[in-house]
Amino acid sequence: MDTVRVRFAPSPTGNLHIGGARTALFNWLFARSRGGVFVLRLEDTDTGRNIEEAAVQIATSLRWLGLDWDEGPDLGGPYGPYRQSDRFEIYQAEARRLVESGQAYWCYCTPEELAQQREEARKRGEVPRYDRRCCTLTAAQRQAKEAAGIRPALRVRVPRTGTTVVHDLIRGEVSFDNATLDDFIILKSNGGPTYNFACVVDDAAMRISHVIRAEEHLSNTPKQIVLYRLLGYQLPAFAHVPMILAPDRSKLSKRHGATAVEEFRAEGFLPEAIVNYLALLGWSPGDEREQMTLAQIQELFSLEAVSKHAAIYDVRKLTWLNGQYLSSLPLARVVEAVLPFMQEAGYVSAVPGAAELDYLNRVVETVRSRVHTLAELRDAAAYFYRSDFTYEEKGIRKYFAKPGVTELLARGREALAAVPSDQFTVEATEQAYRRVIDEMGISGGALIHPTRLALSGRTVGPGLFDIMATLGKEECLARLERAVDWIDINLRAEA
Ligand code: GLU
Repeated sequence: MDTVRVRFAPSPTGNLHIGGARTALFNWLFARSRGGVFVLRLEDTDTGRNIEEAAVQIATSLRWLGLDWDEGPDLGGPYGPYRQSDRFEIYQAEARRLVESGQAYWCYCTPEELAQQREEARKRGEVPRYDRRCCTLTAAQRQAKEAAGIRPALRVRVPRTGTTVVHDLIRGEVSFDNATLDDFIILKSNGGPTYNFACVVDDAAMRISHVIRAEEHLSNTPKQIVLYRLLGYQLPAFAHVPMILAPDRSKLSKRHGATAVEEFRAEGFLPEAIVNYLALLGWSPGDEREQMTLAQIQELFSLEAVSKHAAIYDVRKLTWLNGQYLSSLPLARVVEAVLPFMQEAGYVSAVPGAAELDYLNRVVETVRSRVHTLAELRDAAAYFYRSDFTYEEKGIRKYFAKPGVTELLARGREALAAVPSDQFTVEATEQAYRRVIDEMGISGGALIHPTRLALSGRTVGPGLFDIMATLGKEECLARLERAVDWIDINLRAEA
């Protein structure tokens, strides 16, 4: 097997979560860094648990993360179909081969009988496992069972002695005692294949060279290796990527906040930050580097550098990285990403014109280095789109309640009014303000703080003159006037 062929094989039972996305990413990175093929296969044989939209949602999330596949349910490919529910005949045929060679047998035991067998084994102090009683049924006995309406399941005859060794590219050799494997079921009584069987048949049929998947599946691997041998397939290489745990080392769950890629998207995380963060969950470039593009990671990635130890999921680090990307990505990219958030808030129209986009660009440039998510960016930008905001309480007390503040604001307004609209830049507005400050012999803050409150309603934010230049002359003058009126009405009246 020369060509690297890997697959991501999600079961469409829900949204794509952090763990699945990280598995997909490692497969993708491995394929892309080795000039290989990345296959998407839907493992939808457990019909009871399938959710119709989940398959679509998983594909959408993968695409959004930039993890494109070369063969899959939508694209087809030389080894399709890529949806297990469309491959039942293939499983049946392979199962028949095992029956014919005596390596699999039909089991008519009911769940009650199996429970009883387990109970008896326990009483005898033995490891409960299937006692192979159906292995010796005669044709007549089988017919009688079938006539009674019992649908059998198909079990594989697992060697009872010796060990099965998994050569794992990340964990090294892991041995399993065959006695613990049991004669597991490969076709359920409804005829559908079990995960272990369908997975092996497909990985072989799809010429998968490296099976890269979550550590949770390590215990399935010896069973799968048994099947590879019985079916005469060539073994792929295996790599089990470490678990992702919550900060308290418990299993990651809902109570640890968002875990689905779609939730992160909705909260305003960038795919650039998410894939970067996911890559660091169990892998590192071998130095201190943290912020890396997908292309850089692809260049440095190797399975050998993936850790055996569980990775700890830390949303603060993801949030920090997201902030780094928001301030360092090309402006156009951040604008594109935040646009839907701005449209949803009603700040930007559905089909924005050139002037609207130009303004959005300036707003984003003004606030982007101060926020961590696109939702935060939207909120930090609110006052650039709405002038009817309320003033922060603390600011009112600290700045608006000062005697003489309306005169100061009026002087500031006057100075700005003298700056021509088409030259209303950061430098020009600053110069105008500095002049007022000098002339009045006041501290910069005495004018700057109330002005910031007047223009944005807030006491902290981007540089005041950046805000001014972004808002433009007319808006600055109007807001200063509004603040003066507001102070006159609300604070002077009380005094
Ligand atoms: N459908 C399995 C899962 O979602 C795939 C496991 C594997 O990659 O073999 O976990």
